Amino acid sequence: MREIDLHMHTDISDGSESPENAVRYAKYKGLKAIAITDHDNVAGVKRAIEEGKKQGIEVIGGLELGCGYEGREVHMLAYGIDPDNEKLLKTLKWILEDRDLRNERMAANMEKDGIRVNLAEMKRLHSNSTIGRPHFAVRLVELGLAESVQDAFNRYLDPGQKYYLRRSFLTIEEAAEFIHEAGGKAVLAHPRQYRMNDERLRILLSRCKAAGVDGMECIYSGYDDEYKDYLKSLAAEFGFFITAGSDWHGKNKPHIEMAWGLNGEVEAGYELIRNIKDHETK
Ligand code: AMP
Ligand code: FE
Ligand code: FE
Ligand code: ZN
Repeated sequence: MREIDLHMHTDISDGSESPENAVRYAKYKGLKAIAITDHDNVAGVKRAIEEGKKQGIEVIGGLELGCGYEGREVHMLAYGIDPDNEKLLKTLKWILEDRDLRNERMAANMEKDGIRVNLAEMKRLHSNSTIGRPHFAVRLVELGLAESVQDAFNRYLDPGQKYYLRRSFLTIEEAAEFIHEAGGKAVLAHPRQYRMNDERLRILLSRCKAAGVDGMECIYSGYDDEYKDYLKSLAAEFGFFITAGSDWHGKNKPHIEMAWGLNGEVEAGYELIRNIKDHETK
């Protein structure tokens, strides 16, 4: 049953649609519940919850955070956070300031090579949003320097490419702690994206477990049945609840469809939400 989607981005981060439109679209698709999980920003949470009340669809306040792990980045989702929590807002402010500095440096590097990214205009267009590499990618496509967002990442923005700059990250422990303080539950996002073998993935999961992480995203765009089953068995072994999400970004990642994924592999029923609510943070 396709009833929920717990991972999506609005124009508060790098999605194309407003929080209200994302909720309306979920309603149109017949979903019972969704979570809005913008990168490093909760400015869309209350708006989405309000719209959910109007539309008669449950909206869970969420967030997606990048965490530093062994010189790279893993993503932590948060569910059920209080968007007014002071510590949360303070931490997110720090993250956004750090991003701002990085955006300035990335833009300067591109402008030096004659690429007219126009960061001021980007900021004006997205004044309430988390600006990051995806916005630079869209701009590179507009300038005719890349064919698609994906192509822009491959050629310019992925680690190892010319304009990539690493930003500052929370550790897994810091992320889990402040998500819990804000009343939320912490969930390790899209484990396959980290390209780890079984042994290394287990090391990551042990570290998450010790940090108090509550759940793991086992149903995700592009994950086939075999891989989803593998993740579910790991979740059972480590005592994580299971979540499902497409990582919908609207028109900015047009190949990903809400509550569907690439080929229909993102399918989950409402019972997953009951499991999240029933789970006691240790
Ligand atoms: P940032 O946080 O500014 O470093 O940007 C990271 C975000 O860019 C991720 O959360 C994804 O939404 C997007 N992203 C990262 N790598 C790629 C890629 N290779 N192709 C498309 N989108 C990507
Ligand atoms: Fe994104
Ligand atoms: Fe992510
Ligand atoms: Zn995401």
